[in-house]
Parts: sequence; structure tokens; C-alpha cells
Amino acid sequence: MKPQYTLKDIKLKVDEPTFARAVTLYEAGAVGPISQGIKGYAATVRGTELYQVWLSPKDVYLADCNCYVGQNDTLCKHMVALALAVLADNDGPFETEDLQQNNTVEGSGKVGVLSVDETAVYRKEISTIITKYIRGYDGPSRTWFTYQSRLEEGCNRLADVVRRLPICAASADLMITMLLRLDTKLSSGGVDDSDGTVGGFIERCVIILAAQARQDEGYIAVFRKRLPTSHTCFDWELPLMELVNSADRRDVTEL
Ligand SMILES: [Zn+2]
Repeated sequence: MKPQYTLKDIKLKVDEPTFARAVTLYEAGAVGPISQGIKGYAATVRGTELYQVWLSPKDVYLADCNCYVGQNDTLCKHMVALALAVLADNDGPFETEDLQQNNTVEGSGKVGVLSVDETAVYRKEISTIITKYIRGYDGPSRTWFTYQSRLEEGCNRLADVVRRLPICAASADLMITMLLRLDTKLSSGGVDDSDGTVGGFIERCVIILAAQARQDEGYIAVFRKRLPTSHTCFDWELPLMELVNSADRRDVTEL
């Protein structure tokens, strides 16, 4: 039975402290022999105590552990350690750099170009992530913790796209499209962002866009064309509008 998740999936799903602790457990050999049943993998993981951990091959979210965190419907370090051990059993041992995680929202730092085809691929990838992960909260049928984890995973996946985008006007356009879509999700899409996951992601993207606009003047034209004239859900567009306004003032002075 092969797992249907990849190492990248795990890194995108798990917050940094949990991932780091799970790596420590895994590397210390804390995961006991793995037994495979029809429904999944089971092992004893040695933490402060011995924990009984179960994991579905389908998704790291489908897991169970009798530790305190695991009992609260939250992904715990023991589940993630087992998920890592299962992957290593199937695909061979990890390289050191494999177990490093980067979910930071940052730009690529590289000036470049995107062809029409590449732009279309990125547009599709962004759209698919938003549709799948940034969804309205439908209440008790899904637990709130699981729901928040999905939002986080969605933002991590979008951050992964943002880190790959070269600095160019086409990227600016893609990012504005993404932010406008997230804004609609927050304002009228029923997304429960009380943890500020999506809002924080939008703010980071605005900082990236403002920084990149200093390296490529094509960004200002994109902002002028694409930013909404009515206010967004928390006025995230204002710093970018200010860049447009100051560029306009400069143009007037130069005339
Ligand atoms: Zn646990």
C-alpha cells in the first residue's frame, strides 16, 4: 500500500514547529515498526510516552493519535513522524535538505518574464488552490480546527506559487487577480478567517508587490488598471494605490 501524499504535501499542511518536532522524532528513530492494515498504517511513536498512532494512506489529515493534541482533532507531531517514516519506507531515506520546510510568503527575488502559456498555467494553479482550499465554513459538519488547517494549507500552497513567480508585470497581474479573488472569498464567500490566516497572507503579498514595484516599473500600470476603486475588505489595496498616486504626482512634476 503506497501513500497517496508526498513529502511536499506534508510540508504544505503542517505548521513549522510541528514539522520540526516531527523531523526530530523521526530522525531519533522514535517511530516503531509500522504495521499495515486494510485501512492504513499503525505504529507506536515514542514521545514523552508511547503513543498509538494510525494514519490513512490517503491523506495526513486522516490520522489518529492518543496524545492530547491528536485527541483535539489536530495534526500532531506523532502523526507527522509516522507519515515521514511511511514515505521513507516507500521511497528510500531522505536527503538532509528534503526535511527542510519553507512556507514563508516571499517573492522569488528574480527579475524575469512569463510567456502567455506560463501565465495561463500559473493562473490555473492559483485558481485551483483557491477553489479547493479557501472555502466557506459550513459549520459543524467539519470541525473548526480541520477547517483552519485547510485555509493554512491553501495559503501555504499559494505562497509556494508566489515564491516561484519572476518579477514582471504578468506576475503582478496574477497576484492582483489572486488577491481580488481572496478578497471576494473573505467579504462574501463565507470564509471564516478569524485566525487571520488569509488576511495575513494578503498583507504579505501586498508588501511583496510594493517591493517588486521598485524593481519593475510595469507594476504601477498593473496596479492602476486592476486595483478596485471601492474599498476592499480591510483596505489592503491602499499602500499599492499610494504607489500609483505618487507615480502620478511624479509624472505631473516632470511635465
Ligand atoms: Zn500525537
